[in-house]
Amino acid sequence: MILGTCKKYSVILFSVLIMCFPMALLHAQTVKHVVVIDPAHGGEDVGVISVDKTPEKDLTLAIARELKKELAGNADMEVILTRDSDKTMTVAERQKYIKKTRPALVLTLHINAGFGKTSSGFEMYYPGFQEKNEALKKKTKKGDTGNENKYLNDTVRLSRLVQKNLDVLFPRKGRGLREAHVPLADNLELPVLAVELGFATNPEENKKLASGKTQKDIARALAKSIKSFF
Ligand SMILES: [Zn+2]
Repeated sequence: MILGTCKKYSVILFSVLIMCFPMALLHAQTVKHVVVIDPAHGGEDVGVISVDKTPEKDLTLAIARELKKELAGNADMEVILTRDSDKTMTVAERQKYIKKTRPALVLTLHINAGFGKTSSGFEMYYPGFQEKNEALKKKTKKGDTGNENKYLNDTVRLSRLVQKNLDVLFPRKGRGLREAHVPLADNLELPVLAVELGFATNPEENKKLASGKTQKDIARALAKSIKSFF
C-alpha cells in the first residue's frame, strides 16, 4: 500500500472511530430493561365475551397499547407487546417470542368472568412456589431451590406493587394474589404475572373496562408499578 492511500485510510478510520465513540457511550449508558406485555387471547381466541358483547381480546389489547404508551418515555425500558393486532397466537408461540426477547418481566393481561353478574374486582395469579418446588425437587437431588426461586420472589414483589396501585384506582376491589398454574409461565423461569383486571360479566364493571378513560387509568397504575419494580 502506498503511503498516501494509507494516510487517507487512517483519516477515514479515525473519523469513523470519533463518530462511533459517542454512540458506544450512549449504548453503555442505556442498559434497557425489557418488559413484555401480553394482551391475552386474540384472533380466533376471543376470550370472555362481556355483557355488551365486547370480546376480552379487544380489551386486553387496548389496555396493553395504553400501557406501552405510558412506558414509552422511559429511556431505560424497552416495552414489547406479544401481539399488537387482532391475531391468533398460541401460548407456545407467545413463549417462543418471549424467550427471544429475554425480558426482565412479563405481564399478561386478562379480563375475568363470574358465574353471576355480581362478581367484581381485580385479581392476580402467579405460578406457585409449591408447584415450582415439586418440579425442582425432581431436577435437583439436594432440593436446594433458593436461587431458582428468585424470579418467583420478584413476581410477588411486582404483584404487591400492582395491587397497591390498582387499589388506589379501584378501592376495596382487590381480590388478592393467588398461586395458580399460569400456562404462559411454564419453563420461562422469569417473573410472569397474570392480572385479571375486572369482570366482563359485571355490567357496571364492564362499562368501566370498555371506557378509554379507565383503560388509561389502569395503564397508568400498571406503568407506575413496573417503574417501581426496577
Ligand atoms: Zn383471559
